[in-house]
This record gives sequence, structure tokens and C-alpha cells, in this order.
Amino acid sequence: MDGRPLYLEPRLAPRLGSLLAATGTLHTLSDALGSPLHVVVPDQIAENLDGFRSVYRTHHLSGQVFFAHKANRSSALLRRLATTDAGVDVASLGELQHALGAGFTGDRITATGPKNPEFLWLAARTGVTVSVDTTAELDQLAALVRAHALAPVRVLLRLSGFETPGVRVLSRRSRFGTPVRELDALLEAVERHGDAVDPVGVAYHLDTTSVAEKATALEGCLAALEACRSRGLRPRAVDIGGGFGVSYLAEREQWEAYTTALTSAVLGRRPPLTWGGHGYGLREESGTLRGALGLYPAHRPLAGAAYLDELLSRPAASLGGRPLAALLLEHLYDLHTEPGRALLDQCGLTLARVLEVRAQETGGELLVRLAAKADDIALEDHGVLMDPVVVPRSPTGSLSGSGPVAVHLLGSLCLETDLITRRTVFLPRRPEPGDLLAFANTAGYVMDFHATRAQHQPAARKVAAWQEGDLWRWCLDELFWPTTPSGGSQ
Ligand SMILES: *Cc1c(COP(=O)(O)O)cnc(C)c1O
Repeated sequence: MDGRPLYLEPRLAPRLGSLLAATGTLHTLSDALGSPLHVVVPDQIAENLDGFRSVYRTHHLSGQVFFAHKANRSSALLRRLATTDAGVDVASLGELQHALGAGFTGDRITATGPKNPEFLWLAARTGVTVSVDTTAELDQLAALVRAHALAPVRVLLRLSGFETPGVRVLSRRSRFGTPVRELDALLEAVERHGDAVDPVGVAYHLDTTSVAEKATALEGCLAALEACRSRGLRPRAVDIGGGFGVSYLAEREQWEAYTTALTSAVLGRRPPLTWGGHGYGLREESGTLRGALGLYPAHRPLAGAAYLDELLSRPAASLGGRPLAALLLEHLYDLHTEPGRALLDQCGLTLARVLEVRAQETGGELLVRLAAKADDIALEDHGVLMDPVVVPRSPTGSLSGSGPVAVHLLGSLCLETDLITRRTVFLPRRPEPGDLLAFANTAGYVMDFHATRAQHQPAARKVAAWQEGDLWRWCLDELFWPTTPSGGSQ
């Protein structure tokens, strides 16, 4: 192995750390239910919700936290959340049906994203708040309400394309939402459809880590609410979407050392750190570095509820420099949030069995083949670089695994590109066939968003696990209900 190992160790909160330490249980589970296997931890999502709630309390704000369902299909997580005061943000007919079936009533649900007529009808029928993307969608919804003699539907007007005068912070382009400069036309449509829709407020969702961009958007929303009020409308809420993020890694130093080494490798100053010299967006052109690192910032000083706190504490440049939270409070606006990834932080892990460990003829990294496809552990799709944890088959670990090794993690498809990771992964000991690799913190987007049944290989099963004293108990995800014996809710 060239040089020192470059570890990217996962950050483990106590609950997930305890599950990872229950190695006997993890092996029993994967023996019974196969590899790969997803394990979700419903009690953690309730704890994460408390984190968001405490930020609301700090700023004296009311409003709802809507879990963005698209980040995980799990029934257990959703049903556990139904026992709290959280809402859910659904982005398809299937997600809406799932949320209703998990015990959420329409007043705890918002519908966002691209909508087909069936989705719109069921949302309107069950009293869901609809986040409207365009004037055309508003027209369609109003027509549906009239045709089916439904009660007026609460709508949020999703906006995009915010700008702060003077300050050159432009929000990124979005295919969703109405550009703020077209707000007047949208409000005219709202007035036209006064019999069919109830405009409760405005919304945005930006897929960015930048607090400044989101502060600009929130300021833009406050201005849009003023525009509503000046027309005699009575909006009462701002929905600031999701994107609060997760910090995946335990150590900032490891992240910095890794990205520095990756840059050197791309420049040819050290041996490659990836399969086929892949640069994660970086490339070398006549001795200089080009491109941009297309990776999730795996170590984040500010993520989740703390990120929301920071955003709310930001001064509103165009509105007298007062904190955004103070402006929301002054107008008694409800603050709605739609965290997906952040509510799923530490809510699960993915197990994959080691099938083969092979040395290459040319030496170098070991090839480790797993009983899993890359789409079952979609870390690469989301640019998240994080090491798996070796869960040895035998309690004492194997004798050959005395020191660190560099490996490539290969998937089980008959496809050159089926790589669980495109980078070289460093492990503290050599894994053996029969060991499990546990990928921590995979509940947000990594578990099932990309899952396929390619080559007749099954998609991973999912189980829900909870603690009973020192014991970890579990059941199939779809069998978990808040009444499951000690199934989380206590
Ligand atoms: C995806 C999405 C979210 C959740 O985003 P995260 O980054 O997972 O927090 C929230 N709202 C809308 C409208 C979305 O499309």
C-alpha cells in the first residue's frame, strides 16, 4: 500500500453506534434475510425531529416540520413519525397514499413536485396543502375542485429565481416554482380562483448547501408575502423546503487530508486514488487542475437543525438588517420546513456480505466483491464518500487481517461500472469472505432511491430495529407499527 491509509470514518451517534456493535444480531439478520440488507432505526427520526423543534422554540416560531418522504420509502420511519407532531411532504400519488395509510391526516401533509391529475385529486379530496409550481397547475387544481365540488384547497405558491437588490447573490436555476418576477400574474390567478383555492403562503426549496442563497430566498418570500397582503390576501406561512444537510464523517481532518490527496492524485503527484483515475469532477490539463469537485461536503461544520438555526439568525439585508426569525415572528408567520436527508441522519445502515477478496496480479489494491449492487448502496450517486465498517464473521476477527489494506469495492452485477465505490477504500484490516461491510447512515437517499432489480437480483430488504434495554429487536419494515411490542413509541 502506498503511503498512509486515508480513512473517511463515519460519524456515529450513540444509537447507530450501538447497533453496529451488535455484530451477532447483524450477522443473524443478514443470514436470514440476505445481502444487501437495509436496517432503519425509527426512534432516531423522532429524536431528529426534536432537534428541529428546539430550534423553532429558540426563535419562538410556530409552524410545521414536514418530512420529505422521497428520501426513504420506509413504512416504519413514516409510521413512527405519525406518532409525533410532524407532517410529511409527499411528491407522488404513491407517497400520498403511503402517508395517509401510515396515519397522517390531510392537514399534516403537503404535496410538492410534478403532479399528475390523480395525485392532485387525492390531495384535494383529503385536504392536503398543495405547493403549486405554476399558474397552469393552479388553473388545473381549481378546475378539479370545481368539477368535483371539493372544498377549497390550501395552496402554497412555490417561487424561484430570487435576487437581492445590490447584493450579487443569485439563487440557482430551478425547474420548479414560478420566478418571483412573475408573481403578479400568479397572484391574479389566485384571485381569479378565490372560490377554489386558499392561498396560505409562499414556498421555496433550493438544492444547495449555501446559507446565503437560502437567506436570499427567504427574504424574497417575505417580500412576496407583503405583495400578497397589499392585494388583500391573508397569507400566514412560509415554507422554506429542505436541504439542511448531514455531516457524514467523524473527523474534519480526514476529509481535508482525503480531498487534498485526491487533488494531488489527479495532478499525477501521487498514485491514483480511484478506479481508472476517476477524478470526481477534477481533471488535469497541462499541469493545472481544472473542473470542480462534484462531491457532497461529507464533513460539514453546520448541518441539520444547526443549519436551520444559522439561517434564521441571518440578518435580512434588504429588510433593515434584522434577523430573519425576528421578521417571521413580527408578522406571526408560520415557518414550515421540509427536511429529508437531515431528518434521516443516523436513521439506518446497509449491510453487504463479502463474497470474494482477490489480490491483483500487478499487486496494489485488493478487489473485494460484495453481495450487493451499486444501486443498493448509492453513496456514489450522491457524491458521499464514507468508509464502511468491517463486521467480522468470527467474533475474534480473522488472523490474516492484521493491518490496514487498500481495497476496491465491487458490486455483484456483470457490468464493469458496477462499483460500490469508485475510489480506493482503506480498511483497518483485511476483510474475509463471510464478513459484513456495514455502510452507516444510508437512510437518506442511499437505500432505495436508486434501487433496481437488474439481472434478477433482488432489491435489498428492509428491517426496522429498536432497542429494548441492552437488546436490539427487529421486524420487517412493512410489519412495524407503533403498536409493535415496544416498537419504538413507548
Ligand atoms: C427533495 C425535497 C426536499 C428534501 O430535501 P433534502 O435535501 O433531503 O432535505 C424538500 N422539499 C422539496 C420540495 C424537495 O423536492
